[in-house]
Amino acid sequence: MNTPLNPLDLSGRHFLVTGASSGIGRSTAILLHRLGARLSIVDLDEAGLSAVQAELRGGGQVEPHRTDLSDIPAIEPLVGRCVAANGPLHGVVHCAGIQAIVPVRTLQVEGWRKIFAVNTEAALMLGKTMSSRKVYAGEHGSIVFISSVMGMAGSIGAIAYSMSKAALDGMARSLSLELAPRGIRVNCIAPGFVQTPLLERTGKLWDEGQRKAVEDLHPLGFGKPEDIANAVAFLAADTGRWITGSVMVVDGGYLAR
Ligand code: NAD
Repeated sequence: MNTPLNPLDLSGRHFLVTGASSGIGRSTAILLHRLGARLSIVDLDEAGLSAVQAELRGGGQVEPHRTDLSDIPAIEPLVGRCVAANGPLHGVVHCAGIQAIVPVRTLQVEGWRKIFAVNTEAALMLGKTMSSRKVYAGEHGSIVFISSVMGMAGSIGAIAYSMSKAALDGMARSLSLELAPRGIRVNCIAPGFVQTPLLERTGKLWDEGQRKAVEDLHPLGFGKPEDIANAVAFLAADTGRWITGSVMVVDGGYLAR
């Protein structure tokens, strides 16, 4: 094997990045593209996809695909369109996710199913498509799911979200065993609180004191989207080639207590 000078180099590889219009997905798309990857960027927010695409001029081809990932049967045809436009895939990064703070008393079935569909079932369907010879490029395979510390630690009002992320971690471990013989690695990243539009929406009811109390749960303070994108790049590239079935915690020390 020829070792490239930069082990993070993704030249010639094609990644599908979901949630690419905002926050962690947007930063991930920008970094993977800077590392040389061709991208299929997927999101509900079409204007956000266009803005990211405009930022990614030069380098590998970037194809936007507006899709609602809660529509699970629509994912296989979506992946087919990504492959038709940009070639077989080397990896998938599932960053799209939703969160709602709802106490158990007011939790509704439709609400928790929507969270589970986007955060967990869409991830499984994306992983399943990578098992197809028509989809997977056949080398350097890497799937990264963005999980959360909430999959490992409880938080009031986060029941459905915690369920979706804990299930994601478990699913990824079993999927990693099935896909290892094909050379595809499967890992999760569990971020602590990261300054993205999702956190702004979650925190809009906090006063300054509450915001500080949440930030103080992180010995290193709140994270930035780039902190998670850097970890994604490490797992996506050959730097992560002996890592599979793991949950990488990137949380500014949130879980260290
Ligand atoms: P964000 O809201 O900034 O971005 C999420 C993106 O997902 C948006 O562009 C949104 O349009 C897209 N999306 C949502 N539902 C979709 C659907 N049905 N179909 C297609 N696209 C859809 O959020 P973020 O903070 O960047 O979160 C990214 C991931 O990181 C999520 O999985 C989230 O659970 C996880 N996470 C975030 C934090 C945090 O503090 N921000 C912490 C831990 C984990």
